[in-house]
Amino acid sequence: MELIEFLKEKNDFVSGQEIADAMHISRNAIWKQIEHLRKEGIEIEAVTGRGYRIVNTSDAFGEKSIRSLLHTKWLGRELLFFDEIDSTNDELKRRADKGAEEGLVAVADIQSKGKGRRGRAWETPAGVNIAMSYLLRPGLAPDIAPMMTLIMAIAAAKGIREVSSLDVGIKWPNDIVVNGRKLVGILTEMTAEPDYIHEVIVGTGINVNTESFPEEIKATATSMRIEGGKKYSRSKVVAAVTDAFETYYEIFCATGDLSALRPDYNAACVNVGAGVRVLDPKGEYDGMAKGIDNKGELIVIKEDGSETRVYAGEVSVRGIYGYV
Ligand code: ATP
Repeated sequence: MELIEFLKEKNDFVSGQEIADAMHISRNAIWKQIEHLRKEGIEIEAVTGRGYRIVNTSDAFGEKSIRSLLHTKWLGRELLFFDEIDSTNDELKRRADKGAEEGLVAVADIQSKGKGRRGRAWETPAGVNIAMSYLLRPGLAPDIAPMMTLIMAIAAAKGIREVSSLDVGIKWPNDIVVNGRKLVGILTEMTAEPDYIHEVIVGTGINVNTESFPEEIKATATSMRIEGGKKYSRSKVVAAVTDAFETYYEIFCATGDLSALRPDYNAACVNVGAGVRVLDPKGEYDGMAKGIDNKGELIVIKEDGSETRVYAGEVSVRGIYGYV
């Protein structure tokens, strides 16, 4: 058991001696760990004669606080936390090139070069949001990469609902929205041969405690704080989303497609049964979305009644009258 878990379980003052005996570590090692936890923002009181007590863990965001909440078997068992990084996707790519294993997770407070699709930027300012990426090695053909994006979308929706009970939906393929505004963005990148994937990196940006957004995205962006009217623990959100992703990914690996996850995805997808404008680079068109197929493509009935499938790779959709 980690020190943070031990203190949480006690939920009262515990003497240094009691901790040393229970955890088989020296008083000096305890002190070092306490200092480390404090650096993560975990408030720990130290009172002479009484010992240590954990005060408040809800603002803590760091490796230890995330780990203490995680229930996964392999995803995030190796977890890197950065106060600031260029992009968590780029960091995992660098690690993957050096042979890092499947399941490595990178989490950051600030991203200086956060990315969206098609070379666009993703904002991750200091102290409020989550930037997180997973390294996966599914060992299948490259056409499964867009499916990873959809798995991340259902996992993010489930995790955020668990922590906040906000009424979140998925805007196909890769955004989580609340009240028509974007709360989460997902970017999947891969390195592959024509018929084999070396690795897939699934990155996600979650707006947790943002109070206001830059002018350019004000109209389309929102945060859990804006929608829920209170602050949320970023460590809890990371843990809930990561727990959900591991479960969904294992279901995906058992079937090799999205057949088992399709009902969950369609139930959460705000485009299902609604009019959509498909922003296909080859030409825009309007239609009615029916939901995804087993590969994650969006089934759209065009205005002439014909059915088409939209590949999740590079296409965006909009509501006919607005963003959703
Ligand atoms: P679309 O929303 O057009 O369908 P997309 O889902 O592919 O496209 P991304 O490329 O993943 O969008 O995200 C990048 C875009 O998201 C940026 O161009 C910007 O408009 C918007 N954006 C950037 N940072 C944030 C943020 N923190 N929260 C919400 N939206 C953001």
